[in-house]
Amino acid sequence: MDRRAFRAEHWRGNGHGMTELVRLTDITKVYQGGVTGALNGVSLTVETGEFTAVMGPSGSGKSTLLNLIAGLDRPTSGNVSVGGTDLGRLSESGLARFRRDRIGFIFQFFHLLPNLTALENVLIPAQLRGRTAGDAAGRKLLSQLGIADIADRYPARLSGGQQQRVAIARALINQPALLLADEPTGALDTSSGEQVMALLAELHDEGQTIVLVTHDAKLATRHAARVISITDGRVVDDVRLETAERKAADVIRVRGEEMMR
Ligand code: ADP
Ligand code: MG
Repeated sequence: MDRRAFRAEHWRGNGHGMTELVRLTDITKVYQGGVTGALNGVSLTVETGEFTAVMGPSGSGKSTLLNLIAGLDRPTSGNVSVGGTDLGRLSESGLARFRRDRIGFIFQFFHLLPNLTALENVLIPAQLRGRTAGDAAGRKLLSQLGIADIADRYPARLSGGQQQRVAIARALINQPALLLADEPTGALDTSSGEQVMALLAELHDEGQTIVLVTHDAKLATRHAARVISITDGRVVDDVRLETAERKAADVIRVRGEEMMR
């Protein structure tokens, strides 16, 4: 069964029959000692299969938003629901299970364990799940991400781009319903960053739902189909691009060719 089929069946099976995957309702987040809220009344939904970019200046609340969707933190008020599960009703261990089974998370600085090889890093979430994590599944993912050859190397011997691909493989090993990425290209050079974004776009083409935080407008509009802008903890813009920029560029090119005739 391909990943898309797995996901569609998985989420249809929960009795909601909708394509909505994430629902935030009037979320606020005030950190202890925080003078103003990091999030101030955010409501939004994310549909299954969407590739959404969240943009905004530093400190605007992007990471906070992502962490709340991932169940890494809880809102001060409001409601987070993912795949029909109200995260507020989950205990700490329930939340941990939710993260392990439903969420893949990619960080700016990769967060690989230095004492484990690339392959061992990839297999961690599968092992936490208690399944006999097949080396084969991990190697296959690494191969799909174009880095089969570095499976047995330690992170210190990998480039930033390679490390991020290992982190992506680790995020995917449990076939998460939702892939969250917080500035995944922020620590990479332009070319590695482009490659990582192209990989995310490919995953999206295969049906993966992705929410990506970035402050790079170019990357966001080139690959994502929806751009949510946040300022001071509020959604100030939410645009579904009819076509991504690469398609817009095609339109411009075609028009140009028409004019040349
Ligand atoms: P962004 O990811 O857009 O840069 P963040 O979500 O990290 O923004 O932060 C939003 C606001 O919340 C900022 O003012 C930041 O200083 C504050 N903040 C973030 N995390 C914490 C924390 N753990 N404790 C206190 N304040 C925090
Ligand atoms: Mg951040």
